[in-house]
Amino acid sequence: MRRRQLEDFVGILAALPDALAIAVEDAAWAADIDPHTDQDTLDDLDEKAVVHWGETFAEVLNNAGVRLIYVASTPLTDLYGAFCYSVEAPQDVLAVLPDPDAPGAQMVVYRGAAPKLHRVANPRGRGQRTSACPNEDPIRHAVAELLGVPAPTAACRLVGPAEMKKALDEHDWPANTDPNTFYGFHTDDNEILVARKAPWSVLHEEVHAALVDDRDVARWLCEALTEEVSEYLHETKGFDWRPTYPEQRRILNQEILPRLRLGENGAVKLARVVAQGGEGKMRPDRRIARGLARGRLRRRKRALERALHTRAGDDMNPFIEAITP
Ligand SMILES: [Zn+2]
Repeated sequence: MRRRQLEDFVGILAALPDALAIAVEDAAWAADIDPHTDQDTLDDLDEKAVVHWGETFAEVLNNAGVRLIYVASTPLTDLYGAFCYSVEAPQDVLAVLPDPDAPGAQMVVYRGAAPKLHRVANPRGRGQRTSACPNEDPIRHAVAELLGVPAPTAACRLVGPAEMKKALDEHDWPANTDPNTFYGFHTDDNEILVARKAPWSVLHEEVHAALVDDRDVARWLCEALTEEVSEYLHETKGFDWRPTYPEQRRILNQEILPRLRLGENGAVKLARVVAQGGEGKMRPDRRIARGLARGRLRRRKRALERALHTRAGDDMNPFIEAITP
């Protein structure tokens, strides 16, 4: 595709509704991408479905959940066009491409291509090491949709140990804290720093950002809920993730969820309560304590409240004591 044809195609995009307006802005950048790149290409994706231009794409554009993420010219091997995804299927990439057989365009759905596209399409990281958190936007929207809260606004960045250490110092962590033991850190400036060696923890950190980390409940419970929600999104949407906090999750799954009788996906339901907590409702820690304080635990209600309060922090022992006969 010659530059001239690309410009024609950008003209087609410009005629589209507002949802694609950003495409035109980005096109100037897209037009001068180095074609001789050794980055991943989309051509080896196994599953794709071509949907013809017209009603289907108009429908997609009319859906407020559609977000444009990228306009490309060359490095995606014969693929250039506008790439977007929908909140319903954040792992899939919808591409609007020029139709090779006719004037106009076609839409192609690349199943599960979002992580790959994000690796290729990070404009800031072009020619250098990327600092983009993989899959950041799709993860953010999936988290918000699942928990019924606004999408987290924190900017996410991959960092090395030196930058992680700097952030820890700025937030008054003890001077001897080893930055290599941190996979992720949420700064007071509403920035999420994720260790470059652990990009799979972006999901965990984005869930924290939506849950509002330890605002309403003890941190140990917050970690357990964050992990349960992360695993759920890993399984249903395919986002990269590795389990952490096994003990905290065990307490949640064995001691809390069965007693609250929340049914299927109880952890996700409880995470929703915590994420949506406050504002006129009973505080989540009290609400959970009240749910647990039945039968022989009735007299332990105050102790359970204290063990679930944000002041309990990482210490699970008061809770284990309160819940054990
Ligand atoms: Zn965490």
